[in-house]
Amino acid sequence: MALLEVDDLRVSFPTEDGRLHAVQGLSFSVDPGRTLAIVGESGSGKSVATQTMVGLTRGAQVSGRALFDGADLLTLPQEQLRRLRGEAIGFVFQDPLTSLHPQYTVGWQLAEVMRAHETIARGPARARAIELLTQVGIPRPEKRIDDFPHQFSGGMRQRAMIAMAVALNPRLLVADEPTTALDVTVQAQVLELMKRLQADYSAALIIITHDLGVVADMADEVLVMYGGRAVEVADRRTLYYRQHHPYTKGLLASVPLSAAHTEGSRLIPIAGQPPSLLRPPPGCSFHPRCPYAMDVCTRERPPLEPVSGDLEATSEHTSACHLPEDALGSSAAAEDLRRAAVAAAGDTGFATVGAAVGVGSAEEVPAPDVAGDGR
Ligand code: SF4
Repeated sequence: MALLEVDDLRVSFPTEDGRLHAVQGLSFSVDPGRTLAIVGESGSGKSVATQTMVGLTRGAQVSGRALFDGADLLTLPQEQLRRLRGEAIGFVFQDPLTSLHPQYTVGWQLAEVMRAHETIARGPARARAIELLTQVGIPRPEKRIDDFPHQFSGGMRQRAMIAMAVALNPRLLVADEPTTALDVTVQAQVLELMKRLQADYSAALIIITHDLGVVADMADEVLVMYGGRAVEVADRRTLYYRQHHPYTKGLLASVPLSAAHTEGSRLIPIAGQPPSLLRPPPGCSFHPRCPYAMDVCTRERPPLEPVSGDLEATSEHTSACHLPEDALGSSAAAEDLRRAAVAAAGDTGFATVGAAVGVGSAEEVPAPDVAGDGR
C-alpha cells in the first residue's frame, strides 16, 4: 500500500484579478523507500501541491484527498497535522537562509524541532543535535552547533535543514529544490547525503526540482507538471528515453544531457511563457508553445491517460497529449509519427499561435538525442 496517495488535489487562491488555479486535479502516490521527482517550470504548481498537503498554504481553497498512511491530511485537525509535520513528514525548504531563524543558533533550532514533538531535556537534545550534524557531515559539530545560520556556508545551511527534516526519523521526506542554491560539487554531496539518509530511515522521498540532472540521479518515478496539472508520469528511464508529451521532450532538449550537447550544439529552449493560472488557454494549456499543436489541441484538453503503446515501462506510463500513443522518445520514427499526426489533422491554427510566441513549425524543431543512443 502506498505511504502517500494524493487524489484529485485542487488548490486555488482568491486574488484581486480573480481565482488563481495553482493545482488542478493532481493525483500521485509514493511507496515507502521510493523516490518521486516532481518536475516543471517555476509556477507549475509543484511546491504549492506539497505545501498544501502539510497545511502550509493559508488562504487557499483546497479539495481532493491526500491519504498519508490512511489519514487524509487535508481534513486532519490542525493539532494532528502539526504533530505529523516534522514527526512523520520532514520538509526541506528551498532557501535555507530564509527558512532558518537568523537570531537563534543552528543547535537551538535543531533542539526546538525535538522539543516541539517530544519531552526531551536540554542535555539529550543537544547531544542528539550534535549527532544529527555529524550525520549530515558538518565538521566539528560540537563547536558549530553554537553558530548562527549566517556563520554557515550555503551547503552547510542546506545540510542543517536536512538534519532538522530527519531529526525525528520521518517516514516521508519532501525536499523542495534542495540543491538550487548550491554549486555542483556541494549539490552532489547533498544529493548523496539525502540518498543515504533515505536508505537509513527507509523513508519515501518526494523531490521537487526543475533540474533534470537531479532527477536522473535520484528518482524512481517522475511526475511532470505544467500549468498546475500533471502532463506525464513515468519511471525515470521511460521518461528519459521514451517520453510522450512534447513538454517533457522540450524540457529534456533544453538541458545539456546528451553527447551532442557537449560537442558544441545549441540547447533548445522551450519558447514562450508558462500559461496564466488566472486565465489558462483553452484546450491543452501547452498548445501556445507546442510545435505539434493541432486544431483539436486548442479545443479539447487531453486527459492524463495510460500510454498503452509503451510496453517497456516498468511502472504505468501516462501522458496528457493528443499525439499518437506510439510516438515515443526522440527517434526519427517517433518524429515521423508526430509529423504525420500534425499533417493529418490539417490546418493547426498553430501558425498563428506559434508565431505569436516565436515558436517554429514541427519540422523546424529537432528531436533531442537525450542519451546519445539515437532512441
Ligand atoms: Fe498539447 Fe497538442 Fe502539443 Fe499534445 S500535441 S502537447 S495535446 S498542444
